[in-house]
Amino acid sequence: MNKFLEELIELNRLERRLQELEPVEANIKAPLIKLENQKKSLENRLEKLDGEIKNIKLKRSKNELLITELKDKLKDIEEKQNKVKSEKEFKALQIEEELAKEQIEGANEDIARFEKILEQKEEEKKELQKEIEKTEAEITLTKVDVDKKLESIEKQKEELYKKRDELIQKMNPNIYRFYEKIKRWAGITAVTPIKKQACTGCNMKINDKIYSEVIKGEEIVSCPHCGRVLFIEPEDLQEK
Ligand SMILES: [Zn+2]
Repeated sequence: MNKFLEELIELNRLERRLQELEPVEANIKAPLIKLENQKKSLENRLEKLDGEIKNIKLKRSKNELLITELKDKLKDIEEKQNKVKSEKEFKALQIEEELAKEQIEGANEDIARFEKILEQKEEEKKELQKEIEKTEAEITLTKVDVDKKLESIEKQKEELYKKRDELIQKMNPNIYRFYEKIKRWAGITAVTPIKKQACTGCNMKINDKIYSEVIKGEEIVSCPHCGRVLFIEPEDLQEK
């Protein structure tokens, strides 16, 4: 077979194998990526929860401050009540006192309500933290497994890249450029086998003349319809 054609077929074969490893690699990584996404979403929930807790605590302390102020006011009212002279003034102060007491009661009720919510939120936070820890442990375990599997893929890739680089080094640069040019639009199918006398790149029938040229393999033959480099798989050749 033509040496240039042989090299083109081999280069394409190496690149196809490299491309075939991509989904394999993605499949290996998939469980790890899934767990990492899970962790991220749990952490987002935790962050949101922390924000809610902070907000409720702020509301609680506002109410506590209000109670302090109202208690000061009650003291003030008491002092004034001791000094008043008329019944009318005393009554007015009494109304003010009742109002302050009611407000204190309301604030205390609010605080009790906030405490209850806080308790729930803190419980929820603990659960989330537990879940995050569990996911982290799973990530660690999965990573060991994934790394081990990836190691073998990496080795295969390294070997393929090495072979590819060596091949490109010894290839005729014009032939390599010719291949790269076809690859720009045809991608990995730049070199494609003929099956049932049709180009597997564009599925068009190949006429007898070109077909026999491809079978001879004495020169590089392009598909007349699409321009991909054609070849015959050895097993198809034997059937002839
Ligand atoms: Zn074609």
